[in-house]
Order: sequence, then structure tokens, then C-alpha cells
Amino acid sequence: NKKIILKCYTNGTPLETDLELKVGEVLKLEVPKGSNGVLVKNLYLSCDPYMRGRMQDFQASYIPPFSPGSAIEGFGVSEVVDSDDPNFKRGEFVAGITNWEEYTLIHKTGQLRKIQQDDVIPLSYHVGLLGMPGFTAYAGFYEVCAPKKGEYVYVSAASGAVGQLVGQLAKLHGCYVVGSAGTSQKVELLKNKLGFDEAFNYKEELDLEAALARYFPQGIDIYFDNVGGGMLDAALGNMRVQGRVAVCGMVSQNSRTSVQSFKNMFSLISKRITIKGFLQSDFSHLYPRFLEEITSNYKQGKIVYLENMNDGLESAPAAFVGLFSGKNVGKQVIRVASK
Ligand code: NDP
Repeated sequence: NKKIILKCYTNGTPLETDLELKVGEVLKLEVPKGSNGVLVKNLYLSCDPYMRGRMQDFQASYIPPFSPGSAIEGFGVSEVVDSDDPNFKRGEFVAGITNWEEYTLIHKTGQLRKIQQDDVIPLSYHVGLLGMPGFTAYAGFYEVCAPKKGEYVYVSAASGAVGQLVGQLAKLHGCYVVGSAGTSQKVELLKNKLGFDEAFNYKEELDLEAALARYFPQGIDIYFDNVGGGMLDAALGNMRVQGRVAVCGMVSQNSRTSVQSFKNMFSLISKRITIKGFLQSDFSHLYPRFLEEITSNYKQGKIVYLENMNDGLESAPAAFVGLFSGKNVGKQVIRVASK
């Protein structure tokens, strides 16, 4: 049973060498009777920026750190191989938290969601469009941003797993949407495939605040923040009166020990801005509605989704650290095995 382990706790930007492929013991593909567990074959694993926080022994987080030497865990799509839980049968597909390894015995089966194979929707979308990142976009945009038709929306890390859906939902809602990303290829995709009104490469801008003023001469009503740091400050300097900032992630802030100085904080008062951090899990009651709406929109061709698929567990360390240099074009997934 091949697996990816965390070698030891780390700070700052994660390196490929922080993770290691290990060949584990040969498994009996059976669930011990009376364990109530489900044994799964992992098909797709999701690379998510929040996992970086778990590579650090940082107790004050909302999620505990990984254990060095053990397989790391994350969202995945898997096939049931054997089950001692009457709710799951061999051959069924599930999405939920699993380990970064070929086969996993899952005891917390309550967190697994059964999924159907579908001719139109690839199974891997259950860690992206129809999984945690898609749900983050949905809950964050509708519940935290409280959007109105005609508003001006800015999304950072806009071509990623979360951002690409935020932008498309905003367009469907009748908003004007600008996204930023870190390469010209991503900027092209935002404008020509994902339907953003405008997009720019933030790495080519010397002055982010001036860049946003160019793209939003009338100001920003909603900023969906995936990156934090200087981009958040630049957006605060461009918000309109009664603007809303949804703080979804801070992927630019890899070291929590660094001090970020903000020059536009006074805008919070002068422009009566609401800034709100959120966790997608706060809105889990909306998951069924999200699945129904997004599945239907996707099947009607109203939304598209970009995936960046890497093959093999061996490719997982590089795929994961690639999130922090922007190597992924769309949702980063690892195909561990094919169905
Ligand atoms: P992405 O698929 O967008 O991948 C990360 C992207 O971030 C990279 O592709 C890169 O794109 C960009 N990036 C990396 N480093 C920097 C940097 N220093 N400055 C600016 N951009 C950078 O990730 P997700 O869509 O999965 O996640 C987006 C954000 O949402 C993350 O911050 C994540 O932690 C957060 N999140 C929050 C949740 C919640 O419940 N609050 C749930 C899920 C995600 P580029 O080439 O454009 O630089």
C-alpha cells in the first residue's frame, strides 16, 4: 500500500521534500468484522492549500496538524472494496476524507458521501466543482458576499479551484467580474473560457492598487479574497461605500510569523466596508442545494470547470507544492487509480 507521508513539521512555503512516497505493508483487502469500517481504493486525491497549515505544528488552527511519519489525509474520491457498514456496498463510489495512499480503511464513515458515476460529470469533480472547493465558492459568494445584480466583483486566484466558480456564479448573478491570476495563460482562460469580463496578471503589476483602480474605475462592491496580504490591502483601497470583502483564504501568507502592514484599513470606516472571514463548513446545511444547483447548471452548459490532473501517487508531492507557485491551471487533482 503506497502512501505519501509528512516527513517532519515545516514552516513557510512547502517543499516537495517535506513529503515522501513510502511503500507500506501488503494489505488484506478485507474489513475486520465488527469494525463498522469501509475499505476504499482511492481513485482521485485533492490538493488543497489549507493542507499546508496541517504541515505545521500550529495548535491554534481550526484543524489539527498531520502526524509526521503517517500518511497525510485530504479529500478524495474512492471506490468501496469491502464494507462492514450496512450503508456502503462493494463497488459503490464515495467522496470524503481519506488518506493519501492506495487503499484506506475509513472508520468515520459518517463523513462519506455516496456519489454516482455519471456520463456527463467526471468522478473527479467530486473533489472540485461538486466538492469542498466548489461549495466554498457557492457558500462564500451567496452567503457571505450577499451579491446584488449589477455589482462590481473582484476575485483573486481566480483561475483556481474556488475562484473559477466564484467568477462564473457572479456572472450568472448579473455582476461585472474581474479576476486576477499569475500567468498570461490563466488570464486568457479567465476571459475566454470562464466568462470573466476582464482579467489581469497580478505578477506584471508594480502597483496592485493602481491596477485595481484601472479595472474598477467606479470601485469594487465585492472582493472575494483567496490570497490575503498586499492584494487585500490593494482591494481595500478600491472598495465602494458599503462594499463587502469575503476573506476565504490567504494563500500568499505562507509564514504566519511574518507581519503584514496595511495602509488602507481606514477605508473600513470611511467606506463602511464589511469584511468577513468564513469556513465553508459553517454552511454545510446548504450542501444538498449546492449539489442540485451546480449539477444542473453544469449539465445545461452554464458553467465549466478547469481541472489540472496529475497521474500517480508519485506525482503528489510536486502537484501539492505546485499550488504555492501557481503551477496548477484549475483544480489540482491526483489520479491514483482509474476506474
Ligand atoms: P487554487 O486552486 O486557487 O490554487 C492556489 C492558487 O493560489 C495558485 O494556483 C496560485 O495561482 C495562487 N497563489 C499561490 N501563491 C500565491 C501568492 N503568493 N499570491 C497570490 N496568489 C498565489 O486554490 P483553491 O481555489 O483551492 O483555494 C483558494 C483559496 O481558498 C486558498 O487560500 C484556500 O486556502 C482557500 N479556501 C478556503 C476555504 C474556506 O472554507 N475558507 C475552503 C477552500 C479553500 P496564481 O497563478 O493565480 O498565482
